[in-house]
Parts: sequence; structure tokens; C-alpha cells
Amino acid sequence: MSATTERVKALIRNIPDFPKPGIQFKDITALLGSPRGLYDALVAMLEVSPDNIDAVAGIESRGFIFSAPMAVMLHVGLVPIRKPGKLPGPTFEQGFDLEYGSSTLSMHQDALQPGQRVLLVDDLLASGGTLIAAAKLIERAGAVVSHTTVLIELTDLNGRQAMADAGLNSVSSIVTY
Ligand code: AMP
Repeated sequence: MSATTERVKALIRNIPDFPKPGIQFKDITALLGSPRGLYDALVAMLEVSPDNIDAVAGIESRGFIFSAPMAVMLHVGLVPIRKPGKLPGPTFEQGFDLEYGSSTLSMHQDALQPGQRVLLVDDLLASGGTLIAAAKLIERAGAVVSHTTVLIELTDLNGRQAMADAGLNSVSSIVTY
């Protein structure tokens, strides 16, 4: 692990049984509150991300914290992938299963053009359901997910394999548990 990655990992707290019993919640608030934490996380995420992309797509809400500055640094626009009922224009909607229950993500239909190459960004990869649903929205607009970058990967939940099964083979994470 690089010194940067070690500093980042030291700032991520594990909160057992939040928000439900059995979940090991990875809390990034100390990372965000530390003077160098967010900077170090962004540098590490940019280092593993391609720069030949046309847009960054970020997933509400912790994904926005990382995707917005990455879009600025990569000199491309940001596409917000949001929870339902937040975007005012015509949207694509994609449902997906969570560990308990289900959820939906939405994206403006005109957010991307066919053929555009997209870097997909979120805070954490667990089962992969969230990122796979986001990728489906991007694909419904005719665009292509070139790469996915997350800060944290929970390897026991096999999200990387679920993403590969969905055709998403190019995935980078900085800190793994
Ligand atoms: P999944 O769809 O199972 O890959 O879950 C990923 C999404 O749920 C991310 O947007 C995370 O913010 C959130 N999430 C899932 N598990 C955790 C966890 N243990 N700690 C923090 N966030 C989590």
C-alpha cells in the first residue's frame, strides 16, 4: 500500500451494526474533515482513472463528493445519477435490489450522447448493485462506461465479480476490506 493509501485508510472508520445489525458501515466523515484526507483520496482515485473520457458520472450522494472534483480535474462535465424524484426533466429509471429491499436510480435522458465514454464514480463498491444500475442508465443513453472508480471496495461481497458478469470489467478501488 502506498503512503497516500495508508493515510486514506487510517481515516476511514468502521461502524459496526449501522444502519442495520450486521452491516460494517465504512464512515468517511473523518476523512472528509481531515485537512489532507479528501485531497489524498482524490489524488489516488485520479491516478487509477483514465483521462480519455468525455464525462464523469457520479452517484448520489456520497459519490458526488468524489465525482465532482474528479470531473473538474479531468476537464469534463459531471452527470448526476440521482435518487428518484429529484431530476426535473425526462429521465431513465433503473431499479435494483439492495441487501434489504430495493431501490431506484435515475438520470436525465439528455445527460449523455451516444458513444460518449464515461468514468463512473462512487464512494464504495459492496454487492455492485448500485454501480450496475448506474451503468445501465449510462448504456440506455447509448454511452459507454469506460471505467469505474470507487474509494472503498468490500471484497467479501463479490461486487467486482457481479460487475464483470454485467460486462463491467474495468474497475479500480483504492482501499479494500
Ligand atoms: P452495493 O450496491 O451493494 O454495491 O452498495 C454500494 C452503495 O451502498 C454505495 O453507494 C455505498 O455508499 C453504500 N454502502 C453499501 N455498503 C456500505 C457500507 N458497508 N458502508 C458504507 N456504505 C455502504
